[in-house]
Amino acid sequence: MTKWVYSFGGGKADGRADMADRLGGKGANLAEMSALGLPVPPGLTIVADACSYYFQNGHAFPDGLKAAVVEGLQRLESLTGRKFGGNSRPLLLAVRSGSRVSMPGMMDTVLNLGLNDETVLALAADTDDARFAWDSYRRFIEMYGGVVMGLGHDVFEEILEDEKARLGREQDTEMTAEEWQGLIARYKEMLAEEGFGFPGDPMAQLWGAVGAIFASWMNHRAVTYRLMHNIPSDWGTAVNIQAMVFGNLGNSSATGVAFTRNPSTGLKELYGEFLVNAQGEDVVAGIRTPQSITEKARIETGSDRPSLEKVMPEAFKEFLNVCNKLEAHFRDMLDLEFTIERGKLWMLQVRIGKRTAKAALKIAVDMVEEGLITAADAVDRIDPASLDQLLHPTIDPAARRDIIGTGLPASPGAASGEIIFTSEGAVAAEKEGRKVILVRTETSPEDIHGMQAAEGILTTRGGMTSHAAVVARGMGLPCVCGVGALRVDMRNRELVGPGIKLKEGDIISIDGSSGHVLKGVQPMLQPELSGDFERIMGWADRIRRMRVRTNAETPSDARAARAFGAEGIGLCRTEHMFFEGGRINVMREMILAETVEKRREALDQLLPMQRADFVELFEIMHGTPVTIRLLDPPLHEFLPKSDDEIDEVAAQIGMQPFHLRERIDALHEFNPMLGHRGCRLHISHPEIVEMQARAIFEAAVEAARETGEAVEPEIMVPVVGLKAELDYVKARIDEVARSVIAESGMDIAYLVGTMIELPRAALRAHVIAEVAEFFSYGTNDLTQTTFGMSRDDASSFLPTYIRKGIIDRDPFVNLDFDGVGELIKIAAERGRRTRPGLKLGICGEHGGDPVSIAFCEESGLDYVSCSPFRVPIAKLAAAQATIRNGKKR
Ligand code: PEP
Ligand code: MG
Repeated sequence: MTKWVYSFGGGKADGRADMADRLGGKGANLAEMSALGLPVPPGLTIVADACSYYFQNGHAFPDGLKAAVVEGLQRLESLTGRKFGGNSRPLLLAVRSGSRVSMPGMMDTVLNLGLNDETVLALAADTDDARFAWDSYRRFIEMYGGVVMGLGHDVFEEILEDEKARLGREQDTEMTAEEWQGLIARYKEMLAEEGFGFPGDPMAQLWGAVGAIFASWMNHRAVTYRLMHNIPSDWGTAVNIQAMVFGNLGNSSATGVAFTRNPSTGLKELYGEFLVNAQGEDVVAGIRTPQSITEKARIETGSDRPSLEKVMPEAFKEFLNVCNKLEAHFRDMLDLEFTIERGKLWMLQVRIGKRTAKAALKIAVDMVEEGLITAADAVDRIDPASLDQLLHPTIDPAARRDIIGTGLPASPGAASGEIIFTSEGAVAAEKEGRKVILVRTETSPEDIHGMQAAEGILTTRGGMTSHAAVVARGMGLPCVCGVGALRVDMRNRELVGPGIKLKEGDIISIDGSSGHVLKGVQPMLQPELSGDFERIMGWADRIRRMRVRTNAETPSDARAARAFGAEGIGLCRTEHMFFEGGRINVMREMILAETVEKRREALDQLLPMQRADFVELFEIMHGTPVTIRLLDPPLHEFLPKSDDEIDEVAAQIGMQPFHLRERIDALHEFNPMLGHRGCRLHISHPEIVEMQARAIFEAAVEAARETGEAVEPEIMVPVVGLKAELDYVKARIDEVARSVIAESGMDIAYLVGTMIELPRAALRAHVIAEVAEFFSYGTNDLTQTTFGMSRDDASSFLPTYIRKGIIDRDPFVNLDFDGVGELIKIAAERGRRTRPGLKLGICGEHGGDPVSIAFCEESGLDYVSCSPFRVPIAKLAAAQATIRNGKKR
């Protein structure tokens, strides 16, 4: 029988940390903390499968769930000595979602559940604090109204503000018990007018909340977040039902969040924030500015409000002990939520802490040095994609800084852009190609789209753990939070501060590493990679099996890739070399030539240009393999398109415009991606491959003479489907090689291979391998031709496919393991059957995608090739793939 409910508390637990699949991350770790004997309010977790069941069965709860929850509640009652719905010492519950991976702020929570017109009196008597009891009740109604009844927060906010104004109250804290009671009466009137009856029965409240939390798995915010993070929609969320503890029971109570190490820098120092006399979400909501946990942090931030260390030294000491115990147990930096109720510490959540890429590297390296983890663990736990953050530009320190405000350095990197105050505005501006800094008082999960569209985020309120900070760090976006000196004036659409008035559309810059907000555009510097980065990359290099090459054709890209540690060029797209300066017109003359002689004349002009390019590439990449691909795209791609361009080009190359137009029409193709391209061009016009092969071999001779190191070029033939195609092109290449060897008197070792980018080539790999000396998977075209989906047009319907669940991921970004992947495996196996040890690589965009790289490892590829800035990412991903593949075996 399915176990739908797991219990924890009182030093015991049914679950464990490694059961996040069923219990959700929060539930699994609450269980682990309980079992470790840490102070956790007791509770129960409804497994995520119940959520899946709920959606598959018309929003019905599975049989046996209700009975199991009732049984679990009885255990809670006996552990706490309280009664759910009881008229004295009532048990109140916190009901929270918790999926397998953390989705910060994406789903819903209901606190203080169990309050009604009777239990509120019991709570008042029990705590001896009527004001607190009524305040808790009104908070419960607000949350229940929002989460379960689907009412907007502003519906309650309006009444609250109106009531406060009527009573002359500025702050919520000034409201008395009677005044809260009056407010609740108004809330209930409003609910009745809206047609909602507020359930008094605590059990009815509980099931309403559980259903709403299941439903929240499918709300717009959660769906968007899952799409962004590739989280399958069928995982569902678990629900945690836990005894309430209160951080708002006066000045000996508090609530806070902390990281066991600094999530921004990685420094080994407890890092966190708390609020005295506050409940749960107050800290992250960014409504009050929180205080530092440690004295050290308080002094560093120049705050005059006391630290937790100072105001509650006992609870602080216990918290510190818990942190140390948990870090040693989980062997990672942790993110914790806690509450202190009248001096007693309670742990509400622990999870592996999100961190910046820089902090991730530092923490991993430090933990290896502390003997907590191995070098392989360190390599394994860095998210390769997060290295992107380290490659972000920073503001040139030599530049004059016109600082208009300083906030918290919430997420590193710097950005400049127009001030835009709304998420919709940010999305619209981005569509027009404008750069945006999204400026908000604070952000909420509704702002995800706007944040995605922005270059950086600036908020005037909220701390390092506010929504903006957490989400921006996750997205690798620069973010400055809580710039108290600035204020967003939405009415006038202005950002104002002392002596400052900026309008929407004005340009500002933010520096997410210093917290500075600056006027205007700033000059940016490319980042220097730290010592921690090098240590991790060094470990990754020792661990990984696959080589990492780069896709590059310009000297600057090749140099950048080499600096990042590229071990050769896996794809040099020669066509990119023809677009520069005067070459394009020579290229056009070649294409438009009506006789072979004329074509050869143009090719003779292109030869020295290509040769010079290759010499430079061979020199930069000396000592590493360089794969050069023959011209691939259809020729009409090089010809002008608009009338004006045609007139201009005709004048430049001395041709009549009408004649040029005729030639362009003659070259027109209905489906150029499947047209006259790749090896087909070289079969129609062998003089092109002959020129390119000559340029390559002559360059190899010249570079070898310059550097004293032999160059071994790998010549790659694109879009091959038939062995005979490759035979034909290879024969031309071999012939040129013989000539150049004879002319130069120097022997040249070279390989001729093919791209595997057509299903036929994959299926006939055993035959093609009789000729091909290496294969490189062109998975951009292989995906296009396997799916029969145009790589240039698929973006118009793929998002719909993903939204409707037809496919999980964009196959042009993450390799389609089942289809394209099977062709890759077939070609590898068949190719190596004919030619054991056949060298296999990948040079499609997937070569830089960590998920696809893992697949390449499993398929036995020798190397991946990716764009220069992805080289470190690919190296790390390749090392992780080696580690994980080894564990599987
Ligand atoms: C490919 O098709 O995957 C490839 C690398 O070639 P291109 O993107 O140039 O077509
Ligand atoms: Mg291709």
